[in-house]
Amino acid sequence: MTQTLTPAAGSPRTIAVIGGGVVGTAVALVLSTKGYQVKLFEQGDIGAGTSSGNAGGIVTGAVLPTATPGVLRAIPSYIFNPDSAAVLRPSYFLRILPWLLRFIAAGSPQRVASIASALEPLVSRAMKAHLALTGISKAQDRIDTVGWLKVYTSDASFAETAFERELMRRHGVNFSVLNAEEIEALEPKLAKGVCKHGIFQPESGFVNFPKGLTQAYFECAREHGTQHIRETVQELRPSSAVNITVKTDRRTETFDAVVVAAGAWSKQFARQCGDDVCLDTERGYHMSFRANGKPLLTRPVSFPDQHFVLSPMHDGVSMVSGDELAGVDAPPDFRRIRRLVPAARRALPGIADAEVQREWMGYRPSTPDSLPVIGRSPHHRNVFYAFGHGHLGLTLSAITAQLIGGLVADDPVPFDMTPYRINRF
Ligand SMILES: Cc1cc2nc3c(=O)[nH]c(=O)nc-3n(C[C@H](O)[C@H](O)[C@H](O)COP(=O)(O)OP(=O)(O)OC[C@H]3O[C@@H](n4cnc5c(N)ncnc54)[C@H](O)[C@@H]3O)c2cc1C
Repeated sequence: MTQTLTPAAGSPRTIAVIGGGVVGTAVALVLSTKGYQVKLFEQGDIGAGTSSGNAGGIVTGAVLPTATPGVLRAIPSYIFNPDSAAVLRPSYFLRILPWLLRFIAAGSPQRVASIASALEPLVSRAMKAHLALTGISKAQDRIDTVGWLKVYTSDASFAETAFERELMRRHGVNFSVLNAEEIEALEPKLAKGVCKHGIFQPESGFVNFPKGLTQAYFECAREHGTQHIRETVQELRPSSAVNITVKTDRRTETFDAVVVAAGAWSKQFARQCGDDVCLDTERGYHMSFRANGKPLLTRPVSFPDQHFVLSPMHDGVSMVSGDELAGVDAPPDFRRIRRLVPAARRALPGIADAEVQREWMGYRPSTPDSLPVIGRSPHHRNVFYAFGHGHLGLTLSAITAQLIGGLVADDPVPFDMTPYRINRF
């Protein structure tokens, strides 16, 4: 176990972290190693929600936001084409409209340029931050630096990546463009003749058991004194500049500070602290094909023009879907992921006969500008926010935790954090 430090005089001592997904757990780990007394409020198992079923990518070159120039033209297909990259349930249209309007605005060329500049300091530090946390958690073997591979099945879909490649070049992302033979050399089990072009980011990491990584972070936090409070938080009441009360379904307790890291459910807690935030969810599905003993892939392979990612997880290959805009209350619609099966089986013949062992849905906590909310409440000095990581919550969890650790301790910020402030909308 690493040494636990003592917080500086005048710094908070007791901290409630709301949400035990990968973000909240990483935050709890960093804070507890800095000597704070942390209670992690998580109503379920640690890391068992959205953070358990993702594609496992720590994508260090992800400087392209979700909304890009031309997004407005794509919106009708969200509603009318069940096979598009994102699907919007008509019954949810009015509720998500304010988010959608900001999403469209975030796709202008100028906004995309500034969003990419704000993503860069986060994604470029993401692996180093995870390696620091896996180091103290003795969980180094949970992350492999095998890179992130995107493949394209047509010349036209690859040509559409010109904007993304230019953005990556501008931000110094290490990537290479691959032809069919080079893709085959990296992933020989992909079907021949399907992948015409590829983009490979070799420095990205892969976690083949995301829940295992979060639980390893929690185990280390627990050794440093963090307690898991398995209760449902109902209300946060900032009662003074130095106190905040957390009310759950079973207790009311006062802390020196609180960190809201409740993923897609964070908005209500921000509002209770006086901060309105534009947060919704881009739901995502996965289907898991049982492993038959032979590894089929070495790394996640994203098929942007087919709208799925194939990831070699610890218990089989996961096929992971794009977005569904339908809020946190609607039941899953697994037709979304089932429609992708034929294309996935064509791309990776090794799963053609594999048994489907699981269908799963999670809630990406998404802001319209693809940037997380990381920072201090403008209304309460002892309220901190760490949510809204959308497609990049696994990637950005460790760097978010380090930034929150610095803010709580009042350390100087390592780079401009104004793009992540809660009151930017
Ligand atoms: C299909 C899919 C694929 C993805 N692929 C990737 C990828 O390859 N790489 C990547 O970086 N990201 C990926 N993501 C995104 C990533 O999984 C999420 O951004 C991340 O898991 C969010 O983590 P979180 O801790 O913020 O939220 P969560 O994991 O949702 O955790 C929030 C926790 O808060 C708890 N909670 C909520 N309300 C309360 C309450 N009132 N009281 C107590 N507890 C409460 C919940 O139980 C939950 O456990 C993917 C997401 C999906 C859906």
